[in-house]
Amino acid sequence: MKPFLRSVWMFVAFALLSLTIRAQDVSVAWKPQEITNGSPCIFVVKAHQATAVTGTWRGHAFSFFRQKGDPESWYSLAGIDVSAKPGNYDLTVQVATSSNTQTLHRTIAVGSAPYKEVPLTVPEKFVRPDPEAQKIIAADQETKNKVFADSAQTRLWTDRFSPPLRSAPRTDSFGTRRTFNGSIASVHRGLDYRAATGTPVMAVSAGRVILARPLYYEGNCVIIDHGLGSTTIYMHLSKFDVKEGEQVSRGQRIALSGGTGRATGPHLHLSARWQGEYLDPAKLFLLRLPSPQQP
Ligand SMILES: [Zn+2]
Repeated sequence: MKPFLRSVWMFVAFALLSLTIRAQDVSVAWKPQEITNGSPCIFVVKAHQATAVTGTWRGHAFSFFRQKGDPESWYSLAGIDVSAKPGNYDLTVQVATSSNTQTLHRTIAVGSAPYKEVPLTVPEKFVRPDPEAQKIIAADQETKNKVFADSAQTRLWTDRFSPPLRSAPRTDSFGTRRTFNGSIASVHRGLDYRAATGTPVMAVSAGRVILARPLYYEGNCVIIDHGLGSTTIYMHLSKFDVKEGEQVSRGQRIALSGGTGRATGPHLHLSARWQGEYLDPAKLFLLRLPSPQQP
C-alpha cells in the first residue's frame, strides 16, 4: 500500500475508533462525595445519546430523569438508610442507547455518622400496646405499605426541598438510638422540630398527598409522595389542611402541628424516605438538586 493510502486508512480507522469510544463514553458520579448512613444523595450519569438510564442500589431498582435543555445528564435522588451498616455498597447503572445497553458498576464507600443514644419516657400504651391497639398498629402498617408502594413513576418535585417550619430542628434528633421507658430500643428515623400546637406546617417540596389520617404511633399523619420513590412524612399533627389525593406545592400549608400519637410533647416529626431508606431531612435541604435554576 502506498504511504498516502496507508495514512488515509489510518485516519479513517482512528476516526471510527473515536466515534465508538464517544458513543460508549459514560461517567457516573454522586453528590455529596462523602456519604454516611442516613445520607440522601444524587446519582449523576453523563451519557452521550442515551435513551434511558436505570440503576440498582441496595436492591432497589430505579430510573434516572433528565433536565430540560441538558440531554446528556441523567439524575436520580436516592440515599442510604440511617440503620445501614457502614461499608462498601455497589451501584449498578444501565445506559441504553438506540443500538446497545451498557452496564457499569461502581463501589461507593459509606461512612459512619455519629448518632447518639437518648432515653425517653412515654405513656405505657405506646411501649406495651394491648391486643386492641396491636390490631390498629397492624392495620396502620398495611395502610402505609400500600401508600408507599403507590409512589408516582415520574418526578413530582421541581426544585430544592425546604424546611417544614421556620424554627430550627432539635439538633442531633435524627438517627438517635432511643429507649422508651427503659426498654425497647429504636432508631429515630426523622427530624424533630420544636413547635407549639397549632404551628403551620409546610410541604417541603411539591407532590401528592397519599395519606392524611390518624395512625396509632404517628398520631395525625400526612405523607406526601414526591415521585420516583421519594416521600416525606409529617407526624403528631393537630389539624389536617389537605386531603388524600391532593396535589401540593413546596411551602404550601398542609397541617397544624400538635402532640398526637407517641409524642413526649407537642412537636413536629418529619421523616424523609426513598424506597424504604430513611434519610436525614436536614441533609436533604442542603442537597444541591438539579433544577431549571441550577442546571
Ligand atoms: Zn420524632
